[in-house]
Amino acid sequence: MDFSFSEEESLFRENLREFLQKELRPLVGKIDREGIPREFVKKASSLGIWAMTASQDVGGQGAGFLLSTIASEEIARADFSMATAVYFLLESGWGYVLDRYGSKSLREAVLPKVISGDWFLGVASTEPTGGSDVAGIRTLATRRDRKFVLNGQKIYISGVLEAYNWGGGHLTLAKTNPEAGHRGISMFFVPTSTQGIEISKIENMGRMGISTGTMRYVNAEVPEGNLVGELNRGFYYAMDGFNHARVLVAGACIGAAEAILEMGLEYVKQREVFSTKLKDFEAIAFEAAELKTRLEMAKLLNYKAAWMMDREPNSDETAMLAAMSKLTAPQVAFDIAKSVMMWMGAYGYSKDALVEMGFRGIVSYLVGAEGAMNVMKLIISRRLFKD
Ligand SMILES: Cc1cc2nc3c(=O)[nH]c(=O)nc-3n(C[C@H](O)[C@H](O)[C@H](O)COP(=O)(O)OP(=O)(O)OC[C@H]3O[C@@H](n4cnc5c(N)ncnc54)[C@H](O)[C@@H]3O)c2cc1C
Repeated sequence: MDFSFSEEESLFRENLREFLQKELRPLVGKIDREGIPREFVKKASSLGIWAMTASQDVGGQGAGFLLSTIASEEIARADFSMATAVYFLLESGWGYVLDRYGSKSLREAVLPKVISGDWFLGVASTEPTGGSDVAGIRTLATRRDRKFVLNGQKIYISGVLEAYNWGGGHLTLAKTNPEAGHRGISMFFVPTSTQGIEISKIENMGRMGISTGTMRYVNAEVPEGNLVGELNRGFYYAMDGFNHARVLVAGACIGAAEAILEMGLEYVKQREVFSTKLKDFEAIAFEAAELKTRLEMAKLLNYKAAWMMDREPNSDETAMLAAMSKLTAPQVAFDIAKSVMMWMGAYGYSKDALVEMGFRGIVSYLVGAEGAMNVMKLIISRRLFKD
């Protein structure tokens, strides 16, 4: 067993951290208020980080998930509001799905634009009737001539405004054989500019820099070439995408938690109360020790999940490890953000301290984005009790 990173991985992290601390970190407050600046997305594309898992023939790096996880950590370390990390992980996780299952012409039409930072790529699965039960979606895609006609509604979809304003779209799940349950779902690339799509924004608690919204499809037509992979296989592609995205989500939570913990440690080293530095109160020092230990545990678990993604992307064990990571990292990150806020007292509650921004962003991964906590437990327990 070897716990060290390769030279390539270490260099990648080092260079990315240097770039992000210079180009992204100073923007965090602005991103939370006004959104991710397009210029940043374009600039960062020179590093090849958008959809970095995509193959080289479409301009990607063909990067593995361990490298992509490192990027996810670093991006969230710099922008711990999580907005840029969400942008990154959607491109990487769903870019991987499109690259793996999409036709050559669809990959060539979409991925180069995502990689160059011109287009946004997301996923549209959740519907007003629920997100956890993916097989229960109701949006219909009906074949007509050489097109599919979509009718239905999606909700809580990340990046609706970015895809609308900048270009791009979502890998969208729709029923193509409503009687066949999860075996009757297909995946389509649906450009948000498609006629017949109405979008609206949902005001969220956090990660304000990236939009979340609804999409209603009223006879929205997409060419049959926008079908990803085979008809009625969309559920399986989506599960593959969710597994991969969960590792990146965990990476993002870990990166944000690391940045917030560092801020907290700096604070307790300086702040004096009752003529004593906060760090010298055992109540605080022990709490810091415990949080750091839990963070390290979450990190190791996630590296193992990412490592498995690169070796056995579709094994049950990999899916279980991804679920374990998604179950663990957001909770650790939440606890770190909460404790650091407490250590900082009133300052922690103010916008000046920036911690509350991270806190709000991390909560999105506790409540549901990329799968709710109980669904992670469902995946893990099913494997535990599988004969
Ligand atoms: C900020 C944000 C961004 C998002 N972005 C996207 C996106 O880009 N694309 C997209 O498709 N979706 C997106 N989502 C939606 C997300 O995928 C869903 O929130 C998630 O799948 C849960 O669905 P739900 O919110 O409808 O909750 P429900 O499915 O209604 O679940 C509600 C509660 O019930 C629990 N529960 C569910 N099933 C079980 C069970 N079997 N046993 C016990 N408890 C259970 C869940 O843990 C949860 O606590 C986003 C969500 C958020 C918060």
